[in-house]
Amino acid sequence: MKQSNNRTIEQSNNENLEKIRHSLSHIMAQAVGDIFKDVKFGIGPTIEDGFYYDFELPRPLTDKDLPEIEKRMKQLLTQKIEFKKSEVKPNEARIRSVRQPYKLELIGELAKEKEPISYYTSGSFDDLCGGPHVNNTKEIPKDSFKLTRIAGAYWRGKEKNPQLQRIYGMAFETKRELENRLKMLEEAKNRDHRKLGQELELFMIDEEVGAGLILWLPKGAILRREIENFVLEEYQRRGYQLVITPHIASQKLFSKSGHLDFYKDGMYSPMDIDGENYYVKPMNCPFHIKIYQQASHSYRELPIRYTELGTVYRYEKSGVLHGLLRVRGLTQDDAHIICTEEQLTDELVGVIDLTKYILETFGFKKFKVILSVRGKDNKKNYLGSDQEWKLAEEGLIKALKAGKWDYQVEEGEAVFYGPKIDIKVLDVMGREWQISTIQLDFNLPKRFNMNYIHKNGNKKKPFMLHRALLGSLERFTGILIEHYGGAFPTWLSPIQIYIIPVGKAHFKFCEELGGKLKAENIRAEVDLNRETVGYKIRKSEKMKVPYMLVIGDKEMKSKSLNVRIRGQKAVNPVRKSGALDPTSLSKKRGKLYSSQPPQEAGLSNGVKKMTQKAFVDRIKKEIDNRR
Ligand SMILES: [Zn+2]
Ligand SMILES: [Zn+2]
Repeated sequence: MKQSNNRTIEQSNNENLEKIRHSLSHIMAQAVGDIFKDVKFGIGPTIEDGFYYDFELPRPLTDKDLPEIEKRMKQLLTQKIEFKKSEVKPNEARIRSVRQPYKLELIGELAKEKEPISYYTSGSFDDLCGGPHVNNTKEIPKDSFKLTRIAGAYWRGKEKNPQLQRIYGMAFETKRELENRLKMLEEAKNRDHRKLGQELELFMIDEEVGAGLILWLPKGAILRREIENFVLEEYQRRGYQLVITPHIASQKLFSKSGHLDFYKDGMYSPMDIDGENYYVKPMNCPFHIKIYQQASHSYRELPIRYTELGTVYRYEKSGVLHGLLRVRGLTQDDAHIICTEEQLTDELVGVIDLTKYILETFGFKKFKVILSVRGKDNKKNYLGSDQEWKLAEEGLIKALKAGKWDYQVEEGEAVFYGPKIDIKVLDVMGREWQISTIQLDFNLPKRFNMNYIHKNGNKKKPFMLHRALLGSLERFTGILIEHYGGAFPTWLSPIQIYIIPVGKAHFKFCEELGGKLKAENIRAEVDLNRETVGYKIRKSEKMKVPYMLVIGDKEMKSKSLNVRIRGQKAVNPVRKSGALDPTSLSKKRGKLYSSQPPQEAGLSNGVKKMTQKAFVDRIKKEIDNRR
């Protein structure tokens, strides 16, 4: 069922590109060798978008070195160099690479494994390599590659090994493809949630607080609380019960749940409380089970759906921490559903419907759904009976079909304790983000001996479902920031209206107006700083506030307001056209990402005349409709 067919077609299409990229890594190595002389060569594979090569060099590289290396590469490419392969015996290889310690290490391993050893010679450069390559550098377009960055990299990724210098390059078959990709990366840079998080004053990370621990600033806290309020209200409307549980628990709980057996690496060291070990929680599940078990439950009470925005702490290596996307303290949008066998499918349908509703409200329109089921051959590796697996997997499929979702089945990818559905979204730039997970669990109900009283009066083990629709609030907010490019729809905007008095004479009027708007639960901010109006307008634009009011004498006398509407409608193009694929991005780019506000019908320079009431109504409607 695994969709491997597509992949093979893609692969054969990319074979030529792969050859180009790999050949360019050799050409780059040759160029670096020409420029630096005493170079020790590491490895130079292809990667997504291009290639890299690792070098040991007499001095550290800077970005300034890249144009020179690139220039030398282009010179080499004009020389129409042939790539010639030769297979050699280990001893010959050792002689050929006598001055290259890293190559010698590889040769040693190849010899030990009795693998064939081959070299590719291109002009004056000779490299241990299995290929394949282009026949001749004629086949490499000179204007469709670019050296992009330098990084440090341990030899073979091991910290104990020497650190080498890595140069990354990007390469495509045409100049246009390269340009499009570069433009997209530039756009991604502008949307980087770490950059926007700072500019929009949303969150910070402080070394003294600790890596991977987020401090939400006032504006970020508003954004996050709006997200929380929306989902929690919706969950409760759909029959979830809100619970709240502590951040730490005794070792007893995590022994019973099995986390100390199979999740210990993700947990922090224990603390001693009255001679007993306590851990900060890595997951909320065992707490919810305890709440379920405070009383006995009859089948009539099921399903029970507990939800919590539960903050958990998980160990992540410092190297992988990344803004809000990868953190050590995270608040999970968690829920556990406990139900009977008969209710399972309906519950799954409900969760999937809810997921769609929630993600669409946040402006995501394109999804990728992956159903991970048990492998056929290695049933022993999984917990749970055949009957349970059958029910669960069939239930998941029925639910997906009911929701009319396209999905991909991955056999053998289920977790050992149950099948799951992962939902990825595509953002406006066509990038994929894994967000929601819906997971069956045959393990915890057994470990905790969970039960309910069946119709026939006997105790029965219920089904349990974990689900996190937003994943963690940290990561989800990070994705949202990038998705909207910081220009949030009105309901999520930390400041909804920015009020700018032209002079001191207008302060009082503005404050009163701000007060009126606040009384309507609209987040209005009045800028009473002593800066010029132009500066304040730019500030409001930079903060991506959806509405701006500039108030002077004329405006004070007038019955209506001159409302400036955030120009970049385009920052939220999903509303109209769904997620953009990267190719359409470049076409629409001029329109979508122009910094000039588009002139809309009925608007002059993005300013619209509205009565106070009409303006308030418009904003309230946007907030209510979550737009
Ligand atoms: Zn090669
Ligand atoms: Zn759970």
